[in-house]
Amino acid sequence: MNQKILDQVMRRMEAQARSAPRKGISPARAEVRSGQRCMGCMGLLPPPHTPGVQYCTLCRPGARRHTVYVSFKRCHPDGWHCEFFEWNLITPAGKSVTFRDERLLFKMTRCGGGVPYAHSLLHIAAGIRVGRGTFYLRLTDAQHKKLQSTLQSAEDTTSLG
Ligand SMILES: [Zn+2]
Repeated sequence: MNQKILDQVMRRMEAQARSAPRKGISPARAEVRSGQRCMGCMGLLPPPHTPGVQYCTLCRPGARRHTVYVSFKRCHPDGWHCEFFEWNLITPAGKSVTFRDERLLFKMTRCGGGVPYAHSLLHIAAGIRVGRGTFYLRLTDAQHKKLQSTLQSAEDTTSLG
C-alpha cells in the first residue's frame, strides 16, 4: 500500500470517527430532556428552562390557540405600525396599531405567545434594526376575541389610514 492511499484511508477513518454518534443519547435529545428544546419541533426554547419534556407555544398540546400574523414597520415620527392578519394572511385580525415605543412591541409579543423559540426575540430585534419585520402570535380565545373586537370599534371612528 503506498503512502497516498494510506493517507486517504486514514483521513476517511478520522472523518467517520468524528461523525459517529456518541454513546448514549444525542445532544439534541439530551436538550429535550433538560427542557431546552421543544419536544414537538425540536426548536430551542427560550430561558428559563425547566427540566423535563417541554413544548413551545406553537406545539403545546391542549390549549387551543389562534395564530395571528403580525407585520410591523417603522413609520416616522409615530413609531411602529403593526398590522394583524388571520392565519390566511389576508383577513384582518384586528385594527392596526402604532406603538411609539418598540418595547411595547416586545411586550405584545411576549403576552401573545409570539416567542416560541430562543431566537424569536432576536428575529424581532433584527426586524426593528432594519425597520420592518414579521412574527406570529399564538392567542388564546379571549385574546383573539379582544383583538377582533378592535375591528368593530374601528368602524365607528374615522381611521387615520
Ligand atoms: Zn415546538
